[in-house]
Amino acid sequence: MPKKKFSLAQYKERRKFKRTPEPKGKKARKKPDEPIFVIQEHHASRIHWDLRLEIKGVLVSWAIPKGPSLNPAIRRIAIMTEDHPIEYAGFEGVIPKGMYGAGPVMVWDTGTFENKNIRNKKPVPLHQGLEDGYLEFFLHGTKLQGSFVLIKPNFEDGQKEWLLIKRKDKYASKKRKPVNTQKKSALTGRTMARIRREG
Ligand code: MN
Repeated sequence: MPKKKFSLAQYKERRKFKRTPEPKGKKARKKPDEPIFVIQEHHASRIHWDLRLEIKGVLVSWAIPKGPSLNPAIRRIAIMTEDHPIEYAGFEGVIPKGMYGAGPVMVWDTGTFENKNIRNKKPVPLHQGLEDGYLEFFLHGTKLQGSFVLIKPNFEDGQKEWLLIKRKDKYASKKRKPVNTQKKSALTGRTMARIRREG
């Protein structure tokens, strides 16, 4: 299968930085001790949650129409989108009308994560996991904790559909639905309505 390129070219191509408050994204940072993740609730033409994991100096991104679930029996579709700059993890605000992804964006959850992908007793690097179509990681967020897997079930050309599944651990739950019950920003405590108003 084709190797994934880590690049902000598509991100930059899609945006007019004079008109959108989103970060330009200059720097790809060096390998950190603890990579970061962010989940942004995004009320664009359709509501979705964008999961972004720091891999190779960028935020590798998936759009999850229904958001993450804590129930290991539930598979959530996650569509891979363009890589975003690291600074995007701190972006909360309103993308103006007419711009790509127009609508308010909330930092719903953020924190660090650990790569838990192990094969033949050896850790599999994140970029290798992307190529294999299998990532396993432990989130240390404010709303989400515990292990998740992202699996790419279909390797046909151009296929961007992955599945996000909660692993069985003490953080799994069939009852808790944080996407529906924890509706405030992890960054500013604001509601989506307030972000929409204040920008
Ligand atoms: Mn989005």
